[in-house]
Amino acid sequence: MEITVASLQETFRKYNEEIFGNALPMPNLRVSNAKRRLGSMHHRIQKIWGKTHRSFTIVVSNYYDVPLSLIEDTLIHEMIHYEIAYKNLKDTSAHGTLFRQRMEEINRNYHRDITVSKRMTDYAPRKSNQTETYLVLAIEMNDGSHLLSSVARTMLADLERQIKRVEKIRNFCWYITQDAYFRNFPKVRTLRARSVSAEFFTNLTAKMTLVKDKNGWVRTL
Ligand SMILES: [Zn+2]
Repeated sequence: MEITVASLQETFRKYNEEIFGNALPMPNLRVSNAKRRLGSMHHRIQKIWGKTHRSFTIVVSNYYDVPLSLIEDTLIHEMIHYEIAYKNLKDTSAHGTLFRQRMEEINRNYHRDITVSKRMTDYAPRKSNQTETYLVLAIEMNDGSHLLSSVARTMLADLERQIKRVEKIRNFCWYITQDAYFRNFPKVRTLRARSVSAEFFTNLTAKMTLVKDKNGWVRTL
């Protein structure tokens, strides 16, 4: 199951009610791509104008293809850390006596399988996380339109020769990127591109790595 902030919020609400008696305010929930741990909880204390502000963040990794029950167990594990920190309870260590007591109580009463640590080697990364690098052709036309295309690498030289003959093209650049936006773009072997807004074009190309422009190579592929 793909993890999103919305799905974490929903799961948090559910178990906050069922297990924690709605005692925990909604923390910041984030989805990460961490390989080494499925979840973590961060606690920040800031003094602003003499007032103490506490913020809690729970991060759950979307890297591994794990069953829903494990995602839930991971979130509940982090909620135990959160509960201990939020209520200023003292434990003997990060996973000390208090943590383990609470964990075992929850496992028993709610039929969960929360543990102190999970062996990540038991799980495979999600397919969608196998990052692919795309060669992107970004074109600005004389009429102000903006085009993006994901190009088969072997076609770079051929397509560039064709572009240079198109008078309607004002500017073009080649980029590489791992942005998932290009996942469902066909890898073209001809001059075919998708029209996007100028703003979207500017924002997206700013995040990509320029490899070649009109004047030549900026970096090697
Ligand atoms: Zn922990």
